[in-house]
Amino acid sequence: MYQAFLIKYGEIGVKGKNRHIFEDTLVSQIGNALKPVEGTFTVRRENGRIYVETGSAYDYDEVVDALQCVFGIVGISPVVLAEDEGFDQLAELVVSYVGRAFSKQDFTFKVVTRRARKNYPMESMEVSAALGERLLEAFPGLSVDVHHPQVVISVEIRNKINIYSHTIPGPGGMPVGTAGRAMLLLSGGIDSPVAGYMIAKRGVRIDAVYFHAPPYTSERARQKVVELAGIVAKYAGPIRLHIVNFTQIQLYIYEKCPHDQLTIIMRRYMMKLAEHFAREDEDLGLITGESIGQVASQTMQSLAVTNEVCTMPVYRPLIGADKQDIVNIAQKIGTYETSILPYEDCCTIFVAKHPVTKPNLKSVRKSESHLTEKIDMLMEEAVRTAETVRAEAGAV
Ligand code: ATP
Ligand code: MG
Repeated sequence: MYQAFLIKYGEIGVKGKNRHIFEDTLVSQIGNALKPVEGTFTVRRENGRIYVETGSAYDYDEVVDALQCVFGIVGISPVVLAEDEGFDQLAELVVSYVGRAFSKQDFTFKVVTRRARKNYPMESMEVSAALGERLLEAFPGLSVDVHHPQVVISVEIRNKINIYSHTIPGPGGMPVGTAGRAMLLLSGGIDSPVAGYMIAKRGVRIDAVYFHAPPYTSERARQKVVELAGIVAKYAGPIRLHIVNFTQIQLYIYEKCPHDQLTIIMRRYMMKLAEHFAREDEDLGLITGESIGQVASQTMQSLAVTNEVCTMPVYRPLIGADKQDIVNIAQKIGTYETSILPYEDCCTIFVAKHPVTKPNLKSVRKSESHLTEKIDMLMEEAVRTAETVRAEAGAV
């Protein structure tokens, strides 16, 4: 029954030239999100508004689901569009709209009319009052409440007549492509996909890097990460995912360094390699799913020692989040079920029983000095043998 969707977007803080970038990017991201949806859609800007017009039959839920993944959208209102053929026809339209858009006509309401065309023969208030009367006649269960109505029926007289009354929430944030790009360290866990989602929500394009340790980690573990990248890509757009073989580096650290420092040293090499790919992809920072105190490698001391090798900013959007809050987001965005699949992670294979929780930078550096002979060569080999895949929504 709806011929269009009116897209509401957050404008606060988006001014001047940035506003154009925001709107242009939003229009193109809406277009991308609707590409896989069956039907023809036109994304149109009109008077500071964005409309998605439908040109054929379409599945309402599919369109809403796709739009709910587009950052920058605050609300989605399904709209009935009609030519202006006089007040009587408008009243009929509004009555039929209310008959179809609600399963029960037993609420309080008010009609709000706006005229974008001032040549319309009636004043806005007059139109609202007359439409209200027609609705009360048609549906005895309705009553008017101008102060606290349960339903606001908006009637806008533009080139066409627009009728709408409900707004489905969008994800908010900024359209992807309005900020720079960043490199996500993506593991198969719960946290890192959520971290990527959160940074993408601020308009940042995402690249990703995954370290695996075949044959200690399986093909299925790798596939799981590709799948997670595909789910994040529903929101963030296509993701370039670098898959790096970390086995030789891990074995070498295992051979040469004290075992209680394995995780922290490994994490430092992950960060260094991630920066390499980040520079290649012209990223402006790294993203991790770390959260203070969650595990031994995420104490303040461990984070400081890990961070010490980084020359780029490291964005840790979950740093102050509790696990349950992260799980809630993972469930909402659809990564949780994949994240909890029980496949081995390269970090868990070589971990010590009692990793240091307060690593000492001097001591870690001293341990790393045992790696000088081969580590550069092994890092180069990891870079050279890395495989890059493009993760896209719905591709897995
Ligand atoms: P996650 O749930 O994201 O795996 P975690 O709680 O398991 O996090 P760690 O294993 O300590 O925590 O990892 C911390 C962060 O380091 C992760 O959020 C991720 O950004 C990065 N990371 C860990 N393992 C890998 C990996 N194998 N490949 C790429 N990045 C990783
Ligand atoms: Mg993990």
